Amino acid sequence: MTFVDLHTHSTASDGTVHPRELAQLAKDAGLAAIALTDHDTTVGLPPCNQACQEVGIEFVPGIEISTDPGPRINTDGIERRRGTLHLLGLFIRHDDEKLAQVADRMRKARDSRNPAVIAKLQELGVRIEYEEVLKLAREQNTKIIGRPHIAQILVQKSYAKSITDAFTKYLKFGCPAFVRRNYLSPQQAIDAIHHAGGLAILAHPVQLVMPDPDELEYAIAKLKELGLDGLEARHSDHTPAQVRQYEALADRFDLLTSGGSDFHGHRKPIEIASQNVPYAVYKKLKQAHEQRK
Ligand SMILES: [Zn+2]
Ligand SMILES: [Zn+2]
Repeated sequence: MTFVDLHTHSTASDGTVHPRELAQLAKDAGLAAIALTDHDTTVGLPPCNQACQEVGIEFVPGIEISTDPGPRINTDGIERRRGTLHLLGLFIRHDDEKLAQVADRMRKARDSRNPAVIAKLQELGVRIEYEEVLKLAREQNTKIIGRPHIAQILVQKSYAKSITDAFTKYLKFGCPAFVRRNYLSPQQAIDAIHHAGGLAILAHPVQLVMPDPDELEYAIAKLKELGLDGLEARHSDHTPAQVRQYEALADRFDLLTSGGSDFHGHRKPIEIASQNVPYAVYKKLKQAHEQRK
């Protein structure tokens, strides 16, 4: 059987593998096609496309956009921890102007959040400078600077016992140094993906954190109204039962399915090609994309 991997990250965002190397890795893993879906950027797409052609595998230009999942209010009126709502754009034009604007806005929102977190930590008496965070990110050669870097410094300086501890004590939603990030709405992200000629796919539905099947179904129905094209059924965070659940949901709402590992290089213990996504999944997506044109 032939397999594909339609969710991967490179050094253009927070992965550790260069877009060109990614093509070779995919080839070595026996894949017939890959999608590169870096966070909020398309700069890795041209070199990855070129390298895929050289090694002889098919390439899907993609992007991953974080959006605002909206408030989740308990019956007691208290806001609960929110899940994440990530959208994948597959088969996008890498140089679409509207998509570039959206990606730019996302990067700016992230860049302004980090100094705000540092300021809050300083107010709490933590001796930390933004320069240290930038230096750490440079050393680790990552283009995306975020809370994991801040957490590492808190551990180095003994303000926290571990990364998890740093999040629980300071950085998580509801904690003293939490700063809300300015997200796009799902509608804005779906529109930008469509503008770039792509299919809008809900990434890793499990991360919506909706254990109640009715709540999940309602959320999917809403996204479908906004123009959602598909669901990512196979993903490293999904159990086999969840894969079946999401496939059934896609069926019910007449949505496509996609699948991928969410490979980040050695930043996460996830192997490329590990989700065994059948080639037929890719073929269906490709057909849908071509019909759209
Ligand atoms: Zn994601
Ligand atoms: Zn991802």
